[in-house]
Amino acid sequence: MSRYVGPSCRLCRREGVKLFLKGERCYTEKCAVEKRNYPPGVHTETRGKMLEYGIRLREKQKLRKIYGLSEKQFKKFFTIAERKPGITGTNFLMLLERRLDNMVYRFGFATSRKEARQIVSHNHVAVNGKKVNIPSYLVKEGDVITIRNKDLKSVINALETVVRRGVPSWLELDKENMKGVVKHIPTREDITMPINEQLVVEYYSR
Ligand code: SF4
Repeated sequence: MSRYVGPSCRLCRREGVKLFLKGERCYTEKCAVEKRNYPPGVHTETRGKMLEYGIRLREKQKLRKIYGLSEKQFKKFFTIAERKPGITGTNFLMLLERRLDNMVYRFGFATSRKEARQIVSHNHVAVNGKKVNIPSYLVKEGDVITIRNKDLKSVINALETVVRRGVPSWLELDKENMKGVVKHIPTREDITMPINEQLVVEYYSR
């Protein structure tokens, strides 16, 4: 399945929760989940109770949409997580968190992961002083992420609003120099998103 290019708010309404896909708008009363918290489309009232498969599918879709990945990319990450020792669900979340586009978003250099992906692929990011334009690049503990073009308007604007979202404790942001250090890779407890990754594991293990 290719990447979804339709309205982002529709995705949140489908899952019934805020997925924070549209930057600053997500924190205002204009948020579609705040205004119309029911699934998009017609006949939504007549849809029956979800079966177990449906519950797992929705959880998988929710996680995939949060990180903005295609099914193919998402499954690829899941397969890597499965091969690693430890708990597959936790491994999977940690791998998704280590993506460079996610880190750029977490540091507050972008207001959404979609914007972060664009900043990375347009050559505006360096890791440990070297240009990296691959959004799926996996960041390691101790890596230093910098924005190469300090005049980039979207980054300047995003950093102005970072206070509202906050920078996670596992990251250290130097706002003035548009630089961030990955103090450590997050643990499961650090990820506060409303996700039940076990359901995603069960979905792929069916
Ligand atoms: Fe989702 Fe943001 Fe749209 Fe609200 S404004 S529905 S959180 S994308």
